[in-house]
Amino acid sequence: MSFSENVRQVEGSATIAIAARARELRAQGRNVLDVSVGEPDFRTPEFAAEAGIAAIQQGHTHYPPVPGIAPLRDAIAGLIQRSTGVKTESGGVVVTSGAKQALFNACFCLFGPGDEVLIPVPYWTSYPALVRLARAEPRFVPTTAESGFRVSVDDLEAARTPRVKGLILNSPSNPTGAVYSADELAAITRWAKQHDIWLISDEIYGRICFTAPRAPSVLDVVDSLDRIVVVDGASKAYAMTGWRLGYSYSTRVVAERMSSLQSQITSGASTPAQYAALAAFSDAAQGEKAVAAMAEVFTSRRNTMLAEFREHAPDVYCFPPDGAFYLFFQVDQFFTPAVPDSTAFCSWVLEETDVALVPGSAFGEDRFVRMSFATSSDILTEAIKRLGHLLQPAGVRG
Ligand code: PLP
Repeated sequence: MSFSENVRQVEGSATIAIAARARELRAQGRNVLDVSVGEPDFRTPEFAAEAGIAAIQQGHTHYPPVPGIAPLRDAIAGLIQRSTGVKTESGGVVVTSGAKQALFNACFCLFGPGDEVLIPVPYWTSYPALVRLARAEPRFVPTTAESGFRVSVDDLEAARTPRVKGLILNSPSNPTGAVYSADELAAITRWAKQHDIWLISDEIYGRICFTAPRAPSVLDVVDSLDRIVVVDGASKAYAMTGWRLGYSYSTRVVAERMSSLQSQITSGASTPAQYAALAAFSDAAQGEKAVAAMAEVFTSRRNTMLAEFREHAPDVYCFPPDGAFYLFFQVDQFFTPAVPDSTAFCSWVLEETDVALVPGSAFGEDRFVRMSFATSSDILTEAIKRLGHLLQPAGVRG
């Protein structure tokens, strides 16, 4: 069957094969440890869930205004203003079905055929597909562990062509956990403005930061929203992935364009989910407490994992994450003719140890793999012990 040109280059998730095999092994009764997941293992804070339930019971089950219910847009503008100190306006907020839709809206409205969009590597797996859906082309900018998996203005300038219209930045990063400093963000935003390049700043992990209560935002360092779209949401910080609630913040003109697009696609985010998010974002006391409690657990797991790796697999290089909830570690020293890349490596590890990881190829960095710490410390410790048995230096492996 032939499908349209629109989806010719769009592939399904790179992790499907591993996830399917993990399910098969589980069905055979094997104790599979799934450390591939990209969502918090916590429950949605009770007060936010209750607000969603109450909204349904009170009949808030009709179409929402396309860019979001007014009190939620106000609450988001207020939240951004409180946290960054910039003066915000609700008209710049578009509430979306997850942060992913905000990214889609931005890419679809801002980029088109003939345009190129810079994507630092390693990247979150959906960015290239989102750019291609807009019929634009991703232009990858390599980074290394030595450079902290962060791009510099020099790296961006080296990748710039006259066709480059955008840059997608993600800090804290999935999969590396790299966090850009305010100075680095300031330099990048200055460079982007100078060259009329749109900056889409994906800050969905902003509140899961191990060095500060939140990671620096581009909004901390810019004096105008011109050519900037910030993307965030409730999924990660508030453990609300299934509610599908994200948002973008931009100038009102850009927000109106994205809202028009959204009116033809989803008609807006689910109404009860908007009420749940309204509680989460506007009840500063309970909301902040819940976010801080989860961030503390992630910090402790991060430290446990690095310590366990040092003990059980000391020869494996782990990039120390400053945010998000992933550990990105290097495995190419274990590649062999039979296990030539990160996908084969993850299959091998799954068969040998019943530990499910995500291959770095899903993020454009085939020498590494990603382990999530959105799971209990006991499971993480056990998973690293199993990996440690398998991942001995070449001379020791038998
Ligand atoms: N951006 C990044 C970097 C992510 O890791 C994810 C989810 O894994 C998203 C966006 C999508 O978030 P949401 O679930 O709110 O659509």
